[in-house]
Parts: sequence; C-alpha cells; structure tokens
Amino acid sequence: MSYDSDNIFAKILRGEIPCDKVYEDDWALAFNDINPQAPVHVLVIPKGAYVSIDDFTTDAEDAEIAGFYRAVGHVARALGVVEAGYRTLNNTGADGGQEVPHFHVHLFAGRPLGPMLSPAL
Ligand code: AMP
Repeated sequence: MSYDSDNIFAKILRGEIPCDKVYEDDWALAFNDINPQAPVHVLVIPKGAYVSIDDFTTDAEDAEIAGFYRAVGHVARALGVVEAGYRTLNNTGADGGQEVPHFHVHLFAGRPLGPMLSPAL
C-alpha cells in the first residue's frame, strides 16, 4: 500500500489538525488517543511517512527505527507507568484492525489490562 499523505496522522504531523501532545522529538510524536481504551492511551507515531510496521522496518533508516522505539520507552517512563506496567500494541492491515494508515504504536496503562486477546476461535 502506498502512503496516503492525507491520512489523519499525516495532518497532525503537519499541524493541520490539533492533537493533545504528550511528547515530541526528532523521530516521533506522541499524543493522547481521541477515543481512549484505558486511563492512559497514547499513540506514538514516527515522523516519517510509513504506512505500517511492514514498510517502517523495511524502508526506515536504522536511526529512525532506534529513535522511534526509544521515544516509545521515553513516553512510558515520562508517564510514570513503567513500575505498574503497560502494554504496547501495533495494528497492521485489515486483519490487524489498523484504521489509520500511518504506522503507530498504542501505549495503554493505568489499570490491569487483562488478557491480550480472547481465546482463538
Ligand atoms: P488503529 O486502529 O490501530 O489504526 O488505531 C487508530 C487510533 O487512532 C484509534 O485508537 C483512534 O481512536 C485514534 N485516532 C483517530 N483519530 C485521532 C485523532 N484525531 N487524534 C487522536 N487519536 C485519533
């Protein structure tokens, strides 16, 4: 899938629509999810134009990948959720339930998060 530069996270990165920013550096932007599924629900997105973890891990430079994942860890520490624990999640493609076609990691915390998935059918 080619990158759609009109996706909502691309517009957030360009400052065309607002976000509730939690953190930003050269590699990543983190902001609160508009429809939180936990007391803490932050999205961390790379600054580069990547549809999913597939093209991110294929095409991104090592520095971008390192910078992005360091940002995820930084956000968790800055939010103070490391000791109690948290969950990161990435949805990829149709079966993965990905809605926004700009690679992002969800960070959930603030309560026991329960099992990761329902039992497989
Ligand atoms: P996914 O299903 O993994 O693609 O997740 C997309 C997430 O983006 C969902 O949790 C949405 O609630 C969230 N979302 C969509 N639009 C916005 C927005 N403008 N600001 C913050 N979060 C958003």
